[in-house]
Amino acid sequence: MSMSSSNQAHSAVAKLAPAYIKAIAPYQGGKPISELAREMGLQVEDIVKLASNENPLGISPKADYAIQEALLDVARYPDGNGFALRDAVSQKFSVAPNQLVFGNGSNDILELAARAFLTAGCEVIYSQHAFAVYSLVTQATGATGVVVPAKNYGHDLPAMLSEITTKTRIIFIANPNNPTGTLLGKAELLAFLKQVPKTVLVVLDEAYDEYLSAANKSEAISWLNEFDNLIISRTFSKAYGLAGLRVGFGLCHADIADLMNRVRQPFNVNSIAQAAAVASLADDDFVERSYALNQAGMAQLTQGFNKLGLEYIPSFANFVSFTVKNKSQNAAQVNQKLLQNGVIVRPIANYEMPDYLRVSIGLFSENARFLEVLEQILKSND
Ligand SMILES: *Cc1c(COP(=O)(O)O)cnc(C)c1O
Repeated sequence: MSMSSSNQAHSAVAKLAPAYIKAIAPYQGGKPISELAREMGLQVEDIVKLASNENPLGISPKADYAIQEALLDVARYPDGNGFALRDAVSQKFSVAPNQLVFGNGSNDILELAARAFLTAGCEVIYSQHAFAVYSLVTQATGATGVVVPAKNYGHDLPAMLSEITTKTRIIFIANPNNPTGTLLGKAELLAFLKQVPKTVLVVLDEAYDEYLSAANKSEAISWLNEFDNLIISRTFSKAYGLAGLRVGFGLCHADIADLMNRVRQPFNVNSIAQAAAVASLADDDFVERSYALNQAGMAQLTQGFNKLGLEYIPSFANFVSFTVKNKSQNAAQVNQKLLQNGVIVRPIANYEMPDYLRVSIGLFSENARFLEVLEQILKSND
């Protein structure tokens, strides 16, 4: 909510911001439960939020305990180098400690890559329908985003390769992608990396890797030895459930990590987040339960869509995008009615998908409530 009142004159200095900053469209996140409650006069308990790909199981009990402990020490600055977290991640993923960069969420990693490598005049390649933060962090540096048309809602790697010029500095790839849920095969991705010039960074965003089956899970960390132009980004926001604490990390060549650490704020990951992340890494059982719940919820939702005659994009993540284009009401209307009934999903018109809505997989009861309300809405014609 803006604090400026309408009787104030426009700020003269705001006009002087660079044109590329003024051109940035603000990020549109999922509507908070408290906001919908205020707007619709609903009770918070009656609202189901399936809009931000959060973990419906919450967090690991181990993380919960670590958070309580860490609360006792918030008068101290966090460890700016994240020693315990670095140690835990380096052991878990078998990489050297100096190959890691920690971020205030993995969005911070994406931004650190942009800030460390981009200036006005550079080019950055990403796909149509790819995660919105790629264009945000690119635009903020004055670099030029090159959007490559998607193929079947996923990344078209050959087309992305053909856009590389001498000005290209970064290629962003989300695997799986948000909001489409599409997945690139490992062989395809590896062949792509072999063709990218070593002077172009590839940022491989694997925010949803924990939701992949054993056969599909990324092997990109083992590729780091071969590709010193690769940054893999991971997050604690999704399967680990720590979205509100903001912690993610990048894995890359030590020289790249060193540069990203120079532009990083010294205390960008707070002490509670660090403690929770360390504890979370030690709880494989929680991640397994999250994975299993997601598999079951995905089946529940897709069966529901089939029953309602709704097309959806097969997804490898913890959400699925579906379309109402063959129905009498458009996606914005269906979204509005879902909101009126206390169900928050995500319209993705800003991803050039105006006919689609993205729903995150929740608890069995939350998914059921969403499908029930959706069915009622599609039956009614007013
Ligand atoms: C959710 C998401 C992230 C994670 O963002 P955080 O800043 O770690 O919370 C990163 N990339 C994609 C594609 C996502 O959907």
